[in-house]
Amino acid sequence: MEVIQIKDKRFRTFIPEADILKEVSRVAREISRDLKDERPLFLSVLNGAFMFTADLMKRVDIPCEVSFVRLSSYEGTSSTGKVKELVGLSEDISGRTVVIVEDIVDTGLTMRQLVGTLQARNPKDIRIATLLVKPDKLQVELKLDYVAMRIPNDFIVGYGLDYDGLGRNYRDIYTIAE
Ligand code: 5GP
Repeated sequence: MEVIQIKDKRFRTFIPEADILKEVSRVAREISRDLKDERPLFLSVLNGAFMFTADLMKRVDIPCEVSFVRLSSYEGTSSTGKVKELVGLSEDISGRTVVIVEDIVDTGLTMRQLVGTLQARNPKDIRIATLLVKPDKLQVELKLDYVAMRIPNDFIVGYGLDYDGLGRNYRDIYTIAE
């Protein structure tokens, strides 16, 4: 087991790259089977999903497109507080099958908001592919179509996920050691 230090926190290996890739391959097979006639548009949510997206797309073997979006947080004036705005979607998604590619679903609030924003643009279908989900923390009803791995509530880094901007480059997934 490897222990790494990022800023004030220590993390230990939790899911090695080989185990991650096994599950990513399975998800790629499921998507390729389900959407072979759809020419789906994969929408990867930056920054966290960049590594998952690359490994997933290398394993999807049907005609498809990939594009990248970002959710920028700003303090909204509404009573709900934080609002996340979708940036970078240049494609017309009306009538198309869209697969959101996300790193992790925690409370699910981010994902629910993103699905709502995309739905307003009249796609044929929206599916969700997430690398990770913390089932015990989900607060909203969400249909997670493709899930690579289910994990406990602990904070994780690596394989695209960061702690305060650092740690995205590690090929394994790490969990907090303390
Ligand atoms: P949600 O809206 O589902 O609560 O939050 C989703 C977002 O929170 C993810 O896209 C990710 O940016 C961040 N997040 C949630 N849990 C973790 C975690 O364990 N590690 C990291 N690095 N980010 C997390």
